Amino acid sequence: MRIDLHTHSNLSDGTSPPAALIASAAAAGLDVVALTDHDTTAGWEPAAASLPPGMTLVPGMELSCRWYGPDHPIGLHLLGYLFDPYHEELSAEMKRIRDSRDRRAERMVGLLRADGIDVTWQEIQGYAVGGVVGRPHLAQALIKRGLVDSVSAAFAPEWLGRRYRVPKEDVDVFRGLRLIRDAGGVAVFAHPQARSRGLIVPDELIGELAQAGLYGIEADHPDHGPAEREHVRRLAKELDLVVTGSSDYHGDNKLTRLGENTTAREAYEQLVAAGGGAPLVGG
Ligand code: AMP
Ligand code: FE
Ligand code: FE
Ligand code: ZN
Repeated sequence: MRIDLHTHSNLSDGTSPPAALIASAAAAGLDVVALTDHDTTAGWEPAAASLPPGMTLVPGMELSCRWYGPDHPIGLHLLGYLFDPYHEELSAEMKRIRDSRDRRAERMVGLLRADGIDVTWQEIQGYAVGGVVGRPHLAQALIKRGLVDSVSAAFAPEWLGRRYRVPKEDVDVFRGLRLIRDAGGVAVFAHPQARSRGLIVPDELIGELAQAGLYGIEADHPDHGPAEREHVRRLAKELDLVVTGSSDYHGDNKLTRLGENTTAREAYEQLVAAGGGAPLVGG
C-alpha cells in the first residue's frame, strides 16, 4: 500500500485543483492520499467527488501554529486528520487565520509597492483561488515580473524570506492541538526538523505536545535529511508517537513529487483508528 499523508491543492498554496491532485495521486500509484491544505477544508468535497474506485482520501488540513517559548515565538505546523469540519471553535479559528492572511498579504504588497514593484492586491487574490493567501502567491507575481525565476528563489532573504515578509497570525500550538482533538481529529507534527524554514522547536516541546495528546510526527519529509529522519524516529519511539512520511506536495510550486515519501500501513491504520470526527472517503 502506498500512502501519502500530506498534500496541498490550489485551494491553499499548491497549484493543482483538488480533482487534478487526486488524478495525479492515482497516476503516481498511491492507494491513500490525505489532502492537507493550509487552514482550510474547502478541498474535501471536490477531492472526494473525484476519487477513483479503490483509492482512499483522508480528509485533513495543516494548521498554522506558534509556540511561545522562552525566546522568540516559533512558527510550526500541525497536520489535523479526520476532524469535524463544522466544529465551531476550530472552524472559527481557521477562518480567523485565513482572514488575517489577507491583511498580511496586503501589507506585503504594500512593502513591495513602496519599493516600486507594481504588484496589486487584486492580482495576488487572483492567484489565491481558494482564499488562503500565502507567500507562494506573492512569489507568482515576482516570477511574472522576471524578478525571480522560481517560487523557492522568491523565498530568499532579499525577497519574501525576510525583506518583504510580514509575520503570519496563527494559533498557539497547545490550543491548536486541543481544537483538533476536540473536533474528533488526530494531530501530527509536520516537518519538525525542517531547519531550512527557520527555527525549529526543541524536543522538550514535542514531549509536552505528546503529553497533551499529539498522536504522530513526520519523519520522512522532503525537508528532512537522513540525520533529521533518524532523530525524529528516535524521538517518536521515546515518546510513543506514530511516525508518518509524506511528500508535502505543492504542485508546481515545489520540486517534491506525490508519493516521494510514504507512511507505513501500520502507522496509517493506527492513525485512522484514532480519528473519529469525519470519515475516510472511499477505499
Ligand atoms: P506562508 O504560509 O505565507 O508563510 O508561506 C509559507 C509557504 O510557502 C509554505 O507552506 C510552503 O508551501 C512555501 N514555502 C516555504 N519555503 C519555501 C521555499 N524555500 N520554496 C518554496 N516554497 C516554500
Ligand atoms: Fe505550503
Ligand atoms: Fe508545513
Ligand atoms: Zn504542508
